[in-house]
Amino acid sequence: MDRRSFCRGSIAAGLVAAYPGFVGCQKADEPVAAVADKGFDAISLDGMETRIDEAIVRKLSRALEGDLLMADHPQYDAARMLWNGMHDKRPSLIAQCASTGDVRRAVDFARDNNILVAVRGGGHSWPGKSSCDGGLMIDLSRMNSVYVDTFNQRAYAAGGALLNNLDTAAREHGMITTAGVVSHTGVGGYTLGGGFGRLNRKYGLTIDNLKSAEIVTADGMVHRVNEFEEPDLYWAIRGGGGNFGVVTEFEYQLHPFPLEVLSGNLVFPIDQASEILKFYVDWQRKLSDELYVGPAMMTMPEGQGVLVFEILYAGDPKKGEKELAPLMKIGKPLDNNVMVKDYMIMQTQEDALLAHGIRSYAKSGMVKEMDAELARAMVESYQDDPRQAVFTHTCGGAVARVDELATAFPHRNAQTMFVFASFWADPEHDDPCITNTRRWHSDLSAFMGGYYDNIDFDDTDENVGNYGPAYSRLSTIKGVYDPDNLFRLNSNIKPAALA
Ligand code: FAD
Repeated sequence: MDRRSFCRGSIAAGLVAAYPGFVGCQKADEPVAAVADKGFDAISLDGMETRIDEAIVRKLSRALEGDLLMADHPQYDAARMLWNGMHDKRPSLIAQCASTGDVRRAVDFARDNNILVAVRGGGHSWPGKSSCDGGLMIDLSRMNSVYVDTFNQRAYAAGGALLNNLDTAAREHGMITTAGVVSHTGVGGYTLGGGFGRLNRKYGLTIDNLKSAEIVTADGMVHRVNEFEEPDLYWAIRGGGGNFGVVTEFEYQLHPFPLEVLSGNLVFPIDQASEILKFYVDWQRKLSDELYVGPAMMTMPEGQGVLVFEILYAGDPKKGEKELAPLMKIGKPLDNNVMVKDYMIMQTQEDALLAHGIRSYAKSGMVKEMDAELARAMVESYQDDPRQAVFTHTCGGAVARVDELATAFPHRNAQTMFVFASFWADPEHDDPCITNTRRWHSDLSAFMGGYYDNIDFDDTDENVGNYGPAYSRLSTIKGVYDPDNLFRLNSNIKPAALA
């Protein structure tokens, strides 16, 4: 029996069948000793089948302020689901943590029992790293509060908050920080990988706005990290992903920001893409930090191919209109809804289209220079398929002004990040969609160097090269804080001693 079918068939269901008194969200009150001789199957850190005493599980269940779910619990299936419908994993246990103390207890449990552990923030991991078959899922979704300190212009977001929680809380106080373009993404994975959003040219990546964090490391200790306290760990979590522990709180710099901004989409038919992109590559070289203009190519559900510019001007709309005027004069758009409107309209416009449960595959690539040759190649590579799209995250501005090694995010000199993605519902489309996304990525690969770790479906060892000169420091810090690689379900950095 292979590992996956062992896990699905045996662990989650078998556990419940074997212990009928131990169901659901277990807070049973029998004495631990009475059941201490029983055990259940799980998957160890290195992927082997293992057994854990039921008594130990009971102890964890009792200790948690939140709940410990197993396969028979009515909320188990909802809790184990990730955003990407391609992943259907069944953890043996799901610890729905309600506090930093709960996270410590769950981490201690996984480490002491050598159990594979997955950490789930918003569940948006494209490759499904936030769940696992047979292990323990540390589910942070209940830890989603955001507190705003208006005087110091800071937001404190719990580790399982979503970008919508962050945006909404900050907006209530007339402030903002850089946040990604789909509001049900988790702050956790998003921030730890870097954090691109429509404000990154003005305010930098989200990690550039991360002032401190509270993190539970593999030894169960709680650390507050910032520029002065444990600066190595603070450096590593700004780009190094979930490798170093479970972040239970992020402290973000906020910026005063109007409720309404000049923003919207400018949409051209794909047959004008050549002319428009030719203009765009020259024009975009001199844009102000306030202006975010990212081209995307896709096919509408009814079959119309389009080139779309997502536009946001983070400043005086009058100045924005002036700066945008040359672009507005080019071509004959199918639609132009760029106007002064609530910032949250753009921040949520893709939420429904990219709802939880959709099947999706994605690859990304960092582009040093948007030039005429790339524009030509983009047009030639266009795939006339409503399941496929290419998006861009425009960088430069404040992103590029941070030194390459000031954080663990190494791609500061990229002008743009390309995202090649496909979205579909029917599992029968898995193979063609994945193949075609890979092909689109490959068609433009000559223009890209490195990729964005947060947007890559394939699990490869390429991250050593992708982190470039930051890797050896990351590996050393990993060796200090997680020498046994407890946190391995991520874009994994090998601890220096094991490397
Ligand atoms: P999860 O699946 O919960 O976690 C992802 C990884 O981070 C896992 O390894 C997990 O263990 C770890 N992790 C999560 N939370 C914590 C925590 N608190 N402590 C320690 N480890 C943790 N990225 C951008 O930069 N800009 C965008 O605009 C953007 N848009 C996106 C839109 C969609 C529809 C999707 C699916 C992704 C998008 N991304 C974007 C990529 C996104 O940043 C990553 O998918 C990110 O990992 C999501 O974080 P999460 O907490 O939701 O994911």
